[in-house]
Amino acid sequence: MSDLASRYSEAWQRINSAATACGRSSDEITLVVITKNHPAQLVLDLIALGARDFGENRDQEAAPKAFEVSQTSSEVIKWHYVGQLQSNKARSALSYSSVLHSLDRDSLLESLTKLTANREMPLDVFIQLNLTDDPGRGGIQPANLSAFAEKALAVEGLKVLGVMGVASLDREPEFDFETIANCSAELQRQAPRARFISAGMSGDFETAISFGATHLRIGTAITGNRVL
Ligand SMILES: *Cc1c(COP(=O)(O)O)cnc(C)c1O
Repeated sequence: MSDLASRYSEAWQRINSAATACGRSSDEITLVVITKNHPAQLVLDLIALGARDFGENRDQEAAPKAFEVSQTSSEVIKWHYVGQLQSNKARSALSYSSVLHSLDRDSLLESLTKLTANREMPLDVFIQLNLTDDPGRGGIQPANLSAFAEKALAVEGLKVLGVMGVASLDREPEFDFETIANCSAELQRQAPRARFISAGMSGDFETAISFGATHLRIGTAITGNRVL
């Protein structure tokens, strides 16, 4: 087995054990492999291993990669956009992405409202939380979540899937995952279908699973270190 194949299968084994340990089923968990800093060939290799959900955080890198993959593979895959998205890159990002994990501010919501106005299918979005005290970081402060969600839920071209967060490296991840879970519960009182949670990365995905994460964004644990 290649290194990539063994890391991919080990990730799934760890996901299965973590889910079982807290009485969940891994059927309800989507593994989004973050392929930033890696070439299209790595995506193709992962498709051959069965992966179908891929994530990127920079449009300049993702757009040509998504195009190259689409020219080479006929598998139906989903691109997830997980990075901070500049409004002037939103049109490009939406041309290949099916899910945006980083709806993090009013100005982006306004751009998306225009860009999704005539879509046949709404765009799936997660509202990104800011779990730090630094307002300069992307994301909605938990205290502002319900007001922001109300605006996002009113946009016809968007389907709010739930909340997304990145745990701070400065403290135990449990602290942030609990905040994310509480925010998710609050959002579900407003919008019962918005029950999904995008949380958990290479260093903390098992903990995220125990706090209800449904969409894991795992990069280096599967892809190895950056090569681009
Ligand atoms: C890069 C990235 C990840 C994956 O990080 P790893 O530590 O490599 O698993 C997840 N989420 C976001 C938003 C990222 O930018």
